[in-house]
This record gives sequence, structure tokens and C-alpha cells, in this order.
Amino acid sequence: MLTDYHVHLRPDEVADTPAERFFTAANAERYRETAADRGIAELGVAEHVYRFTQALDVWDHEFWRHCARDDLDDYCAFVREETDLRLGIEADFVPGREDRMADLLDGRDWDYVVGSVHFLGDTAVDYDRYDVWTTGESPDRVWRRYFEWLGEAAMSGLFDILAHPDLVKVWGRGRPLPEGDLRRFYEPAVEAIVEGGAAVEVSTAGLRKPVGEVYPAREFAALVVEAGVPFALSSDAHVPEQIGFRYDDALAFLDDLGVEEIAVFEGRRRRLEPLGAEVGQAPR
Ligand SMILES: [Zn+2]
Ligand SMILES: [Zn+2]
Repeated sequence: MLTDYHVHLRPDEVADTPAERFFTAANAERYRETAADRGIAELGVAEHVYRFTQALDVWDHEFWRHCARDDLDDYCAFVREETDLRLGIEADFVPGREDRMADLLDGRDWDYVVGSVHFLGDTAVDYDRYDVWTTGESPDRVWRRYFEWLGEAAMSGLFDILAHPDLVKVWGRGRPLPEGDLRRFYEPAVEAIVEGGAAVEVSTAGLRKPVGEVYPAREFAALVVEAGVPFALSSDAHVPEQIGFRYDDALAFLDDLGVEEIAVFEGRRRRLEPLGAEVGQAPR
């Protein structure tokens, strides 16, 4: 089984990506065709929660106000009625707003919820317009806070999958990096993940970013394996061509760690399936 769950049906630029142009059966079919070509049977979508007006009940950051244009129930209905894709959402972890996020998520029939830490307060680890690195905080402080929030996200119980789990490294050498053994950041986060029970995403999106490596780092992934936490596999595609992006690298990465199973989700229930492209069986 190969999965691609953390998938967006459109690029992030809000101005050029209206729902009516991208939430169409024809667009979903383009993603499905690429997935089939690449042996990926389990395909789902996870649009950013902040692209929906309902997200402003959770948080009202300027960026969210700029992005919140579409209706969440229309999105869910579109995926269920006009596609055969799994229904997911990429929901941010906003500390102190867990109840509000739970209200938004509850009562909608997700196959899975992908949880992300993009913002650390008002500034973001992956978006230069609100760059966390302009605050003058030390790399140790930024990284420590990022991984604390990742752990809290896991403990919140809101999420089935923790997305791009070491996103704080996205800029690579383009931003300050902490010195020494980075496991001092990973270890407490992995402990929280064990307790919280979410799966950890292996994302090939990092290979397209300045850092040029998968999320999470090998040392982080090794701790995840040691802790017995399952992985979910995704590309974070924003266009059809990115489906299954550089999965050969991800599979080699997982094989090297001795990982043989991958998490599969349906109706927010998780099971494990043997990892790898199906041979001789047409993807559905
Ligand atoms: Zn993300
Ligand atoms: Zn994403």
C-alpha cells in the first residue's frame, strides 16, 4: 500500500485559487490519475483549515482573515459527492484554542485530520511574510518552542497525523540553526506523541524546499520507530504533478529504518498496511 493523504487541490496563493475552479470532479480526477500512474491507491485531500470562513471562529490572525473565503461544509460535500478521495483537512494547532478547533472538527465526517504547527504565536516557521526569525529569538528558543507545540498538538487529541513534523528546519541553512545534537528537541516531542497517539507524517515536501530533505530528519524518525509510533506517508502536493513526489526517496528512507507498515485511515480509524506499491493490482 502507498498513501498520499496530505494533498491540496490547489496552490496556496489565495487570489488565484477560487474553490469553484479547483474543487471540481475534473481536478480531483487529475490527482487520481497521477496517483494511479505512481502506484498510490490511497489518495486523500487535506485543504488548509484557514481557507474556510469557519476557521475564523478558531483564530483571527491577519493571514487567516486574508485566506478565509470558502465554506467548509461545501468542501466536505464536494469531496464526498463528487470524488472518490478520502476526506481530510490540514488543521493548525493553535494553543489555547483547542476547544474551538474541536468544535470545528466535530460533526464533520473526516477520514483523518492532519495537524500542523506553522505559526508559533503571530509569526510562522515556514512563511517569510510573518517570519519567526525576525523576532531575534535564538535558534534554541525557536526550535524548543516549535517542538513543545508539536508535542502539545499530539497531546491535544485533535489530530490523526502530525504533518511535516520538523517543519522548523524548512529554510535549511537559510536561517539560524541550533548547534549540537538535535535529539534534545525531538525526544520530548516523541514522548508526547507516544502519549497522544497520533501517527507521524513522512513528507517528501521537504525535498522541494530549501532544506532539501524529507520531514522528519532521520534522527527524529529513528526515535519515532523506537517508540513504536506509526508513520503516515504524504507528498503535501499542491498540484497533480506533485502527487507521490520523490516517493522512491521516502521508501528508501523508511526501508533503511526498518519500517514495513504504513498508517491507513478511514472514518478517523487507523489501521496498518504493508508498505509499498501494489504489484499487479490496479489502483482503484
Ligand atoms: Zn503544512
Ligand atoms: Zn499542506
